[in-house]
Amino acid sequence: MIDLLLIHGMVITMDEHRRVLQDGAVAVDKTRILEVGETETLVKKYEAKRLLDCKGNIVLPGLINCHTHAGHNLMGKVSTDSLGCWWPMVSNIYEHHSDYEFWKLDAQLSACKFLKAGVTTAFHILGGNPMSDEPELARGHVDGYCEVGGRDVVGCGIVVGEFPHRYTRLQNGKWIKKLVTIDDMAAGTEEIIRQNHKKHEGRSRVCVTQFLQLAEHGGCSDPLSLARLTALDREVCKRTREIARKYHTMINTDTYGGWVKLASMDEENALLGEDVLVGLEHQMGITPEEVGILARTGTKVYCTGEGFYKRSPLSEMLQKGITVAATTNGCAPRNMVDLLEAVRKLIFIEVTAHDDYHYLQAGKALEMITIDAAKCLGWEDEIGSLEAGKKADIAILDWHDAHLTPQTTPVQKVIYFAVGADFQTVIVDGKIVMEERKLTLVDEAAILREAEAYHKELIQKYGLQELCNDVTWGKIRIEFDPGHPICSRIANQEG
Ligand SMILES: [Zn+2]
Repeated sequence: MIDLLLIHGMVITMDEHRRVLQDGAVAVDKTRILEVGETETLVKKYEAKRLLDCKGNIVLPGLINCHTHAGHNLMGKVSTDSLGCWWPMVSNIYEHHSDYEFWKLDAQLSACKFLKAGVTTAFHILGGNPMSDEPELARGHVDGYCEVGGRDVVGCGIVVGEFPHRYTRLQNGKWIKKLVTIDDMAAGTEEIIRQNHKKHEGRSRVCVTQFLQLAEHGGCSDPLSLARLTALDREVCKRTREIARKYHTMINTDTYGGWVKLASMDEENALLGEDVLVGLEHQMGITPEEVGILARTGTKVYCTGEGFYKRSPLSEMLQKGITVAATTNGCAPRNMVDLLEAVRKLIFIEVTAHDDYHYLQAGKALEMITIDAAKCLGWEDEIGSLEAGKKADIAILDWHDAHLTPQTTPVQKVIYFAVGADFQTVIVDGKIVMEERKLTLVDEAAILREAEAYHKELIQKYGLQELCNDVTWGKIRIEFDPGHPICSRIANQEG
């Protein structure tokens, strides 16, 4: 007798042949999919402890979000209109005012949001930059996320900028100021990998992450101004590569125009290649030559639906065979947790960039949040499609509702019309973690209460009330005032 049999669903397999089964069934035993086929065949073949009737539902592989940020759930939504204060505020809280409990609670909240939007796997950067100075924090994040039932990748590594970095951390009940060197961060990254990589029944992974691609070239650079690699660029990339090689992990980095070409000058250590996932932050300034470098090196890419600078390289990358994932880029300051909404934004960008409605169609878009996203994480052997032998990560979407009726063209319905809240039941690793929109492993109401209380306490403690009431009524464009007293106070408040 097997554990679970899903029957009578409209099953979008995302397998090699992209089979869509009108009256499909999925047989699950323990953590894996045994078989995907017609209901008529599978009901005769298997007896299951639990039979799930999916009539009127679309059965999909769990969605995969390749780029979001831990921390933004608890704090990132303050200062949404005072954008100039946003980055100093979140950085300051992550670097000087956060402990294990903060990261655990933030991750629990993140898992609640993502699972309820059909996302079974999410790649979180630990903070705004991928921090590694205090391994306890990454452990809090992974513990919290996996406890709710999600599959988690956490990105930690060497944070670039001026060395040593200053952090304030809670140690033995006291907040202690720390100066952290490259060596400390490399050692911290290794410890994070030892504690969290392939733990939680294999649901957690660590990806060595180094933001930004190069150490001394921050911001949205003019490609022509980038002439040569610095010694620090080479050193940081080399250290990142060494750690990933030692522990067999993927590498993640992000980039702006000009950096891909510059990085490729150091052939041995460039953060490019089949084991590397590069984020085109806001898709800015990537040249056709750089698209060629990404294609030639087999580098994977993720894009966010946040705009583009002069030209969008997405369709060009897809035409050259680059594997690209669509992501939310966190849940703040104005980003969303709904991956379906994120991919729709990307479609809008492509259509606008090319002034042509025919770009980025539904089939490709769905690939970019399922099977292609799994490839981007180097995890396609286990997740990203509904196939025999793969992990049973399944998202079941109700298409009875008015906005999805009539029930035809399931792939287009999912991509163009469905929202995250249409997912009713979610299975991760063969376990039902949400049923009829109720999370099964945790007390969701208690997590929300605790997150609310923690958030309000931090607002009070650090005097951030003003940033919560910052609605800029009637303004067409925000004028950024870096001299705003609250901005400079936050930037200098080190615990
Ligand atoms: Zn990001």
